[in-house]
Amino acid sequence: MIFRPEIYAIKDLRMKPFIDQAEIHDLIHHTRAPKERVREVIAKSLSKHRLTMEETAVLINAGDPGLIAEIKEGAHRLKEEVYGQRIVLFAPLYIGNLCTNNCAYCGYKADNLKIKRVTLSGEELIEQVKALEDAGQKRLILVYGEHPTYNARFIADTTQLVYSVKSGPGEIRRVNINAAPLDIDGFRIVKDAGIGTYQIFQETYHEETYRKVHRGGLKQDFNWRLTALDRAQEASIDDVGIGALFGLYDWRFEVLGLVRHTNHLEAVYHVGPHTISFPRIQYASQLDIDKSYLVSDDEFTRLVSILRLAVPYTGLILTAREPANIRNEILRYGVSQIDGGTNIEMGGYAKKKNGAQQDIDLEQFQINDNRSLHEITLDLIEHEYIPSFCTACYRLGRTGEHFMEFSVPGFIKRYCQPNAILTLAEYLEDYAPPETREKGYQLIRKKIQELPDDLFQEKLKQRLQQIKEGKRDLYL
Ligand code: SF4
Ligand code: SF4
Repeated sequence: MIFRPEIYAIKDLRMKPFIDQAEIHDLIHHTRAPKERVREVIAKSLSKHRLTMEETAVLINAGDPGLIAEIKEGAHRLKEEVYGQRIVLFAPLYIGNLCTNNCAYCGYKADNLKIKRVTLSGEELIEQVKALEDAGQKRLILVYGEHPTYNARFIADTTQLVYSVKSGPGEIRRVNINAAPLDIDGFRIVKDAGIGTYQIFQETYHEETYRKVHRGGLKQDFNWRLTALDRAQEASIDDVGIGALFGLYDWRFEVLGLVRHTNHLEAVYHVGPHTISFPRIQYASQLDIDKSYLVSDDEFTRLVSILRLAVPYTGLILTAREPANIRNEILRYGVSQIDGGTNIEMGGYAKKKNGAQQDIDLEQFQINDNRSLHEITLDLIEHEYIPSFCTACYRLGRTGEHFMEFSVPGFIKRYCQPNAILTLAEYLEDYAPPETREKGYQLIRKKIQELPDDLFQEKLKQRLQQIKEGKRDLYL
């Protein structure tokens, strides 16, 4: 789908921009945050109600160290209560780095002539997917630059190719997409290919900054991008992911922008985003931005905690841009999904498997957590998190995975947690070395004991036995 503004200006008139820049500035600068009010807002979130923008601004303006500690503690409690101890694992797979845009923060910008441009051929894509399956991955997000080559048909075809690849016991059970905005017809095409989540980050909700850092290509159009997920909804894609790139502008503005985007989708389509991502700017080949808004580690932890409280029912994704120590810290405050074994070099997974050297000129930005999927899984197990490769809802056609997760009372305890255990067992059987297997099963035994219902424990134990006997893809 090639973007032609003269067509879409007419076709998508109903897609009205919804970010009021002045309103957000006003909330940042004029919302007062006495202690009692901050505590009231935390309590509202702990009773599992989404916060308004004004309430989110109360948290943002709470600068006292004691209150910040209370916000973090609240986020930690909410995370434990809502999401339990499971962490969903996935991996990004870059399909092509051709790009007509010139994003100031990205190594793949069109003006960067140093970068090697690659689009994976069908054979190369199969090789990548096999390498990912051989590591134990089950959930991928395919990433595409913005270029006429990567139109809706191409995205649909590559998605279907990925689903078709099987290596040993391995298979990819859920393919999410991170690609450029499409028109409604384009979104319909990718929907029909069986995608999971369609993810588009606004990068910055601050329009002036947006214009400064997007100096060429189709991405210059702030509102075309902002309303992209409305078009996705119109095409029946109700599983969408939003995000902001922290470090381009004031983090407080971006948090409120994300909350506004969430409110908008909920108000208009009755379903909020499935996930929110909050990557922080890292080194990229030819990085060219105003560095005064870069976000410190303390601010980062704080903003993730505020987001957790603001949108209790939205999955939060933390990527391998962050180093392992920050990832471990932030996991406490509300993250529910992380990538593992990430390699963002074009063609990187198969290359690494074959022992070849990494090439920074084939990467979009710098990754700071280079641990393998196995190392991350082991680390999670040692911290008593249950690594989850669950895709049960998607496979059972339980539509609106996100909807199920939170609208059915006890769903997470009855389904997500046990399914996390079953998928972990599959991983332990098929991919883990003996020491990890032992630690993993120890954790599984402990978590089963914690389940309240004896009958349910029995059922789960039976499935685990079936997995040990070689059955796969079992879920509840
Ligand atoms: Fe292209 Fe995306 Fe990089 Fe922008 S961020 S230059 S759209 S690959
Ligand atoms: Fe997601 Fe459904 Fe699995 Fe829960 S049971 S983790 S909602 S796929």
